[in-house]
Amino acid sequence: MTAPVLMKEAPDTLAPEVLAALQAVAGAPYVTTHPDDFAGRLIEDRGLFRGSALAMVRPGNTAEVAAVVNICREARVPLVPQGGNTGLAGGGVPQGAILLSTDRLNRIRAIDPLNATITVEAGCILANVQEAAAHIDRLFPLSLASEGSCQIGGNLSSNAGGTAVLRYGNMRELTLGLEVVLPDGEILNDLNGLRKNNTGYDLRDLFIGAEGTLGIITAAVLKLFPKPVTRSTAFIACEGPQAALDLYDRMRARSADSLSTFEYAERIALQMVLDHSPGCSDPMAQVWPAYALVELTSADPDADLDRRMTTILEEAFDAGEVLDAVIGTSEAQRDTLWALRENLSEAQKSEGASIKHDIAVPVSRLADFLIQAGVACRAHMPAVRVCPFGHFGDGNIHFNLSRPLEMADADFLRQYPAFNRIVHDIVASMGGSISAEHGIGLVKRAELRRYKDPVALKVMERIKAALDPEGLMNPGKVL
Ligand code: FAD
Repeated sequence: MTAPVLMKEAPDTLAPEVLAALQAVAGAPYVTTHPDDFAGRLIEDRGLFRGSALAMVRPGNTAEVAAVVNICREARVPLVPQGGNTGLAGGGVPQGAILLSTDRLNRIRAIDPLNATITVEAGCILANVQEAAAHIDRLFPLSLASEGSCQIGGNLSSNAGGTAVLRYGNMRELTLGLEVVLPDGEILNDLNGLRKNNTGYDLRDLFIGAEGTLGIITAAVLKLFPKPVTRSTAFIACEGPQAALDLYDRMRARSADSLSTFEYAERIALQMVLDHSPGCSDPMAQVWPAYALVELTSADPDADLDRRMTTILEEAFDAGEVLDAVIGTSEAQRDTLWALRENLSEAQKSEGASIKHDIAVPVSRLADFLIQAGVACRAHMPAVRVCPFGHFGDGNIHFNLSRPLEMADADFLRQYPAFNRIVHDIVASMGGSISAEHGIGLVKRAELRRYKDPVALKVMERIKAALDPEGLMNPGKVL
């Protein structure tokens, strides 16, 4: 990875009276101006951006968040909310702002098994919410490789997806109500747990996916589901994107609603995992062009999912969609198969600089997209390593390009705009999206201007101006 892009110069000190006011509100131990205390939070996961912060504040409840927002508004100091800082678009990187960490907003406020809802604060770590749900025999289905450190506020603000969207939906679809501190310091209380509520404009969906530009989410009511008690996990080899698409179609039709995951990776991506992730090994004797990780789950203890999986795979084998397959027969084996998927992002990092495209196209166009984009990228740079993987069942591919083996990281990253144009033009021609689940943040602002409907952009700007006329809430992100 090359040196991070330093963000534009910004003031590096905070007026003493503002600091004192923040300390009075949040408590002195939870306000720091010492750079060492937040150095790791000024740089995002991929190391592409480095920001600066005047201070870091860690409020302990919603009223304290509102008071911090009011202090910042009166002093005209920008504010950037940050959760686990695992975001992949640079949205949480501050730039001469106060960094508001949500890590102390970590209470589970209520669980209602009958209503199948859990009310959590924004700083709850995703894995802890999953665990709390499991404790009462329910499932909170959002599942990401970063679930041990990302927080619910960050999941909401980036409208996170992950590996179970196919069955349960993304964060937007998993949320019923929100509590938000608005840029003027008012607290919007829409913490309802209702499945039906047609009382005017849908404010909830305005804040989900807004990447902290419209306010600070402090709590949410999330949906729970029956906890699956049986699952069948298969790692499947196939010839390429078209075979994977045919297999996906068959799985959907034949799995009787039990299909919860259909992930895809081409061999080059799997090879990176095998080369760089300790403990991961190829479950198959032969090397194949592409793979799918497929999981069926059910809350019915009598559902014989391995049998169902085997039957479908036999049919798919006869139809030429499957070349080889391994079904995990124990929890440990299933985890081993999942590790091949979960280590893909980290393994790719070890191969030097990469240019990433988190795209979505209609599922029906996925094979066309993968073939066309691969051909076009190789035409631009024959030695580029096209390394696509991702959430095939959602039409969402991480169309990542690793640098040619002999090329310097910096030289490769200079090609970012050229590859963006190639890949995003193909995406746009198929009615797709340039950001399926990671958001816009800093990294895709220019691309958003290029591809988003101009009227939609205008409406977004009006909403931003109406809610945050001073432009102090996570400035410079998204728009
Ligand atoms: P942060 O990075 O802290 O923040 C993200 C954005 O939300 C920023 O703009 C920030 O300002 C804003 N924000 C944070 N908290 C609040 C709040 N309380 N109120 C308002 N705004 C707020 N993402 C997926 O969707 N699917 C995946 O499968 C996936 N896999 C990943 C795998 C790895 C290994 C990694 C490192 C990341 C992955 N991600 C994935 C990206 C990332 O984990 C998600 O976007 C996650 O939802 C971010 O949560 P966070 O708490 O880390 O947010």
